[in-house]
Amino acid sequence: MCNRKKSCAFYLTYNGENDTDKKFQLLIDTYCNGDFKEVCRRKIYKDETGFAHIAELGPNGHHVNSNKRLY
Ligand code: SF4
Repeated sequence: MCNRKKSCAFYLTYNGENDTDKKFQLLIDTYCNGDFKEVCRRKIYKDETGFAHIAELGPNGHHVNSNKRLY
């Protein structure tokens, strides 16, 4: 389980408790609650730039709605 969940805009916006749209569940299961947390692009973005990205950057580095690569 990722230790940044409480402050992560993606997680806080799209996890099942706050969003009835389940299309993000696979990302949450594999990244936020799974082993892929170590390669999360949001985490790398924060570590490399010093800034937290808005929620639209998914943990896989793609925009949550367009699937366009953001980072
Ligand atoms: S999106 Fe990344 S930083 Fe945010 S909770 Fe999930 S694994 Fe952690």
